[in-house]
Amino acid sequence: MSPMEGGALAKKRKPTTTMDHQTSSSSASVDNNYFNVSHNHVTDNKKNKKKKKKKKRNKAKPKRYSLMSYWELPEYMKDNEFILNYYRANWPLPQALFSVFRWHNETLNVWTHLIGFVLFLGLTMVNLLRVPQVADLLGFFARSTPISAVTNVSRNFISQGIMTTNLIELKQMTSQEMEIAAAGHEMSGVAYWPFYVFLGGSMFCLFSSSICHLFSCHSHPLNLLLLRIDYAGITMMIITSFFPPIYYIFQCDPRWQFIYLGGITIMGVFTIITLLSPKLSSGKFRTFRALLFASMGLFGIVPAVHASIVNWGNPRRNATLVYEAAMAFFYLTGTGFYITRIPERWRPGWFDIAGHSHQIFHVLVVLGALAHYAAILVMLDWRNTFGCDNNNAT
Ligand SMILES: [Zn+2]
Repeated sequence: MSPMEGGALAKKRKPTTTMDHQTSSSSASVDNNYFNVSHNHVTDNKKNKKKKKKKKRNKAKPKRYSLMSYWELPEYMKDNEFILNYYRANWPLPQALFSVFRWHNETLNVWTHLIGFVLFLGLTMVNLLRVPQVADLLGFFARSTPISAVTNVSRNFISQGIMTTNLIELKQMTSQEMEIAAAGHEMSGVAYWPFYVFLGGSMFCLFSSSICHLFSCHSHPLNLLLLRIDYAGITMMIITSFFPPIYYIFQCDPRWQFIYLGGITIMGVFTIITLLSPKLSSGKFRTFRALLFASMGLFGIVPAVHASIVNWGNPRRNATLVYEAAMAFFYLTGTGFYITRIPERWRPGWFDIAGHSHQIFHVLVVLGALAHYAAILVMLDWRNTFGCDNNNAT
């Protein structure tokens, strides 16, 4: 029962008590009876109040923090009409926090990015502590299978006389020279900060997304604030993703480093400022937001084509491109799910808890970031092994 209803009942009861009082006082001969009756009445009242309190306590908990349907939601939370049930709305912060261990329609949205965050935190720690075996686990695939395939292709190019002088020089390096070059990578002076900028940006995005999904059910102002932090997180992840590839690929030509990194940073700042407008956080602007993020991501095609042309003869080119293509595939497919809200639009109510578009989008974002991480390991390894002097990559 709500406090409003309780108050209304109490008001209704008051006149009855005065009525009782008037009737009793009018017959002076039954003073004792009156006293007993009114005494009984007081104890009855006390019992009733206790019962009511008990009822209130019993009723309040489950009703206040129970899950609700789409139609019961406050207007600000009506975002996806194809998810029909298991909503939390206007929950206090502690209840919202502990709902991370409860099933509702945001549970998997929180966990998918929380696990992604822990994964990237682990990768960052491993790299910072320089545990190459674990850090290179993903890079292992990058340096084994695709490269050997690329080397075969390169051989064909050589036989056809198409290869550039640089690559012939590279191929002519003896295994001993390769080892010396690899051993010297610690001293090669390659900056790691762009790599950590990407890891930091990814962690910020994944963590802010989890927080947003967990607490945005608290209140309208917090919902708006967290949504904007979430969008800023996505933008940060996109911008910071550009830093390592542009930095390492164009390391020997700082002009292009500056142009591309400057360009993407300006786009990012514009995107964050645009998305600070509360209007753009609503469901109506879902496609606009997705297109804004996708266009930022697609901006990457320009430096990617540029890098592919100038590194045409580089044996790492295809390995890097395979990973970056995988990343683009994951991100674009994820954006597709985000916009179309498939599969829940086909069967509203069927995917409320598990399997709805936002969860698929989250998983694809983590996979895209992992593919990008693998591509960066290839680039880092290449830059560490061959500095600008050995390989005129740009
Ligand atoms: Zn999300």
